[in-house]
Amino acid sequence: MNKYKFNFENSYLVLEKSLYTRLEPIPVALPKLVIFNQDLSDELGLDFYSVTEKEIASLFSGNRILEGAQPLSQAYAGHQFGHLTILGDGRAHLLGEHITKKHERFDIQLKGSGPTPYSRRGDGRAALAPMLREYIISEAMNALGIPTSRSLAVVTTGENVYRETALQGAILTRVAASHIRVGTFVFAAMQKNRKVLESLLNYTVKRHYPSIDTNQNKALKFLYAVIERQVELMVEWARVGFIHGVMNTDNMALSGETIDYGPCAYLDEYDSNTVFSSIDKFGRYSFGNQPKIAQWNIARLAEALLSLIDLEKSKAISLAEKAVNSFSSLYEDRWLSMMRAKLGLVKPKNDDKKLIRELLTWMQRTGADYTNTFCDLRDKKKLNDISKYDKEFEDWTIRWQLRVSNNPETYKRCIDLMKKTNPEIIPRNHIVETVLDAAEQGDLQSLHKLLDVLKNPYRKTLEISEYKTPPRDDQRIFQTFCGT
Ligand code: AMP
Ligand code: MG
Repeated sequence: MNKYKFNFENSYLVLEKSLYTRLEPIPVALPKLVIFNQDLSDELGLDFYSVTEKEIASLFSGNRILEGAQPLSQAYAGHQFGHLTILGDGRAHLLGEHITKKHERFDIQLKGSGPTPYSRRGDGRAALAPMLREYIISEAMNALGIPTSRSLAVVTTGENVYRETALQGAILTRVAASHIRVGTFVFAAMQKNRKVLESLLNYTVKRHYPSIDTNQNKALKFLYAVIERQVELMVEWARVGFIHGVMNTDNMALSGETIDYGPCAYLDEYDSNTVFSSIDKFGRYSFGNQPKIAQWNIARLAEALLSLIDLEKSKAISLAEKAVNSFSSLYEDRWLSMMRAKLGLVKPKNDDKKLIRELLTWMQRTGADYTNTFCDLRDKKKLNDISKYDKEFEDWTIRWQLRVSNNPETYKRCIDLMKKTNPEIIPRNHIVETVLDAAEQGDLQSLHKLLDVLKNPYRKTLEISEYKTPPRDDQRIFQTFCGT
């Protein structure tokens, strides 16, 4: 353990050498701390209380290597918008795995820390706004109760990065259950060396699915377990209206966490076709398409695992297909339960799906705000106000009220369930962009205020009203850029 209580292990180094490259971050000119996540530091059992900002900046820029770290960049492949490419950490260094007192294992990774053998034509660097965006959105996801990588610190480098214009360079310190991706398995399978793939499978199962205890058909059991977690994750994204934006196979973590936040955003008005990412021209990664894409990505994982599922190829394919096909009905089931909870339907009934679909159809047609509509259902006055102008909605609320409130006790349970399921606050895109603009100018006040509000997304208070208000037409943001 080092003086900051980082307790590093470096278990990734036991894997085949083709899966990573050992190398150190490239030092930067003048590291300066922008933000440090004290809560996360406490949760991880770290101690930076008597450490100067200068020292923190030097550590989380990679200028000084933390004792016990053995930095490496990971190799992986990825289907980018459907097309297979060899990638790898082009601008990230895994410092090591921090083991907490409770024996949890977390990757500590620097992102934007310099070129690597996997950089292709990239500069290995990152700009301040996208790193702060990842910080904000990942911390919001965590507070919403959704599996995600976390953000420990953002440091500016004192160097410019050149995108369309010159921007301040920055490095994010990311904390994740691991960075093993669907693309890591695709890359391992491409080596055509059973040992490489098998060791990666054993490693991933031990790290993320330890309850798969048998060696018999481990690959197939792993596939089903990954499906289960990805279904859960897609349902959670749907619950809060999250759009990842770049669900390439290299951006899907096998731990089941949300990772690689790029041009992601949350829905304001409900429209299942919503796409924010400027590079998603055909809506492949639109809000409503995410479960299908998750399934598509899992099919790529299944292909990579075929040789381990069964030596007889046709048998392996049929077992893998059956697993991949199970995704849809599992998703439908879980999605229905989640939507029931959003509407406070404590006990399932047969025509719930119809009731849910009717509301979503109305929301899609009228462009109702996704977050606020579910909160408004708990507010009788608001309901009356909306219903006054809309007969379709009025009829729907009558049907919904009949369904939920047959007695005061069940009504209370219904409301409690809705409070737990429907956030009051999500990081709305227009607010995030304003905060990032200010941060780029050196004003961090609104960033801290936003992060504070996002810590309690289910709590309704008067102070949060500005964060609940959907964008006016002139504030609306239609596209988010990788700008990375
Ligand atoms: P992403 O879509 O952001 O997850 O990135 C896709 C791939 O591009 C990954 O292999 C990244 O490491 C790589 N990449 C992104 N930005 C850069 C950069 N500025 N320099 C080098 N590699 C990059
Ligand atoms: Mg990525």
